[in-house]
Amino acid sequence: MPENQSNTKKAFLRATQTTPIIDHHAHPLLKHSAINTCPLMSTIIGVHSDTMYGSRTGLAHIRAITHLSALLGCETTWDAVEAAIVRRQGEEYNKWIQRCLSGIDSVLVDDCLGDAEKFEPYNHLDIFTRSPSKRIICIEEVAAKCIDLACVAYSEPTEAFSRAIKNFIGAIEKRLDDPAVAGFKSIICLRTELAISPAINVELLQQVFQRILNDKNLGNLDAPTGFGHAPLNDYFLHILASLIQNDEGGHKKPIQFDTGVGGHDRALTASSPAHLQEFIRTYPDVPIVILHAGYPFTRETGYLAAMYGNVYADMGGVFPLLSRNGQEEVVRHILELTPVSKILWSTDGHYLPETYLLAIDQCTI
Ligand SMILES: [Zn+2]
Repeated sequence: MPENQSNTKKAFLRATQTTPIIDHHAHPLLKHSAINTCPLMSTIIGVHSDTMYGSRTGLAHIRAITHLSALLGCETTWDAVEAAIVRRQGEEYNKWIQRCLSGIDSVLVDDCLGDAEKFEPYNHLDIFTRSPSKRIICIEEVAAKCIDLACVAYSEPTEAFSRAIKNFIGAIEKRLDDPAVAGFKSIICLRTELAISPAINVELLQQVFQRILNDKNLGNLDAPTGFGHAPLNDYFLHILASLIQNDEGGHKKPIQFDTGVGGHDRALTASSPAHLQEFIRTYPDVPIVILHAGYPFTRETGYLAAMYGNVYADMGGVFPLLSRNGQEEVVRHILELTPVSKILWSTDGHYLPETYLLAIDQCTI
């Protein structure tokens, strides 16, 4: 390699290894008392489908084992790695977490993970980072709570619907003003689909709401509210985007969209970020972040980030889910068209600190 190229490479490596990381999408850690509630392998390798879980021959899995075993000073087998991790969980766990998160300056934490009892609060991560964490608010969770409250307060559908919308607007306005909240996230890709309808049909919305209210009145209060109903999901997202678009605060908070990879229960063909194009055009002042590089729709992600000023491409989740070659391909696809300033990085770390560690280390070695 010519000397000037070699110097450039060294300077680039130095920059990647010393630049403080803003991890703009991750999740809380499990409380120490709950770390045994998640299978180590599926959590750390990051894939939960039965097929992948059963396979120990995937390249990403082999790479993760090689890396973790070197770090933990054990044999290069999953069983040895698992035993070494369990030992770390038993002794000086905080020191190990600190090692796993080293390099991260601050984390934007999506703390919508269901059972709050099992997880540390979002700002628990502040112990291990230089700057305080901020929250990312899951929009579907907020909407579900607003609907539940309205259904308890009103039995007449039009009144309950109107109260749910008022509750939701109030909840979003509060979070737009909250400096601890960095932005919002939508899991509409998991619930219905990314192709958010541009048209709002109030009559249809009220019919959907009537069905939800009927369910509640039948005593089905514990059922997850609503969010298999596309018109309602779409409507709440339009309300959120309109509130952000019209927010007169200096900095507009983004909406992160879960896209692409996400397990066997997700409709792959409906999870391409290309389905968001109409929504992106409708709200040109709303920053939109496409999570997980939209993998496997990575070129679509890069295209949207390049074509629209309000779109950003995130590369979290790709590390450590893919093989090294796959990760490099994703970076190449995004860089084909997307300016570097539109690319964001995240760990998508969750539950266990090793998920952060693999994401960070695989980007810097
Ligand atoms: Zn996530």
